[in-house]
Amino acid sequence: MTTSPIELPTPLILADHPALDLLNTQMMVDGQRRDLLTSDADAAQWLQQIGFGPADEMVVGNGKLLVQLRELRACIEDLLAARRENRVADTAALNGFLLLAVPQLVWKEAGAPLLDRFHQANATNQRLGRLAYIAAELLAEGDFNLVRKCESPDCSLMFFDRTKSHKRRWCSMALCGNRHKVAEFRKRRQGAAP
Ligand SMILES: [Zn+2]
Repeated sequence: MTTSPIELPTPLILADHPALDLLNTQMMVDGQRRDLLTSDADAAQWLQQIGFGPADEMVVGNGKLLVQLRELRACIEDLLAARRENRVADTAALNGFLLLAVPQLVWKEAGAPLLDRFHQANATNQRLGRLAYIAAELLAEGDFNLVRKCESPDCSLMFFDRTKSHKRRWCSMALCGNRHKVAEFRKRRQGAAP
């Protein structure tokens, strides 16, 4: 095993959609496209970060979770690209993950039973199934005018534009938005110079 020469940042959760946040776990770091998910622990932590439940409920350490999450990411990436380019794509891989999302009616107390949409005794499968479902929902029913890449040419981050005006341009103001503002300001100042 080779160790990474640079410290990788924690994945950013800024896409306003878990499927796009998953794609964003591959991003430019110091001019190089890097995979920020490098271990089961990273994968479990990321699933916790997006609000899918405690990382310690998942089995980590045998490398399986990382492989599965990367596999799911790769197939979501393919399908989203196809959808954006108005092509047809093979859904078999994503459908495989969708089989992990099993809706079940759970009734433990009097009153209305609970519809558990992503029921699974296995916490890892439950989360992967849920993520696959959310991605499938986006592909089938999402407004793809709102699925966009950050406008910075140096940035590959994707987001779902949930702003009211639908004019979101940047992955985040703090990152690319401000850099752009500073560059524009400099350009204007240079233009104004005698
Ligand atoms: Zn950006």
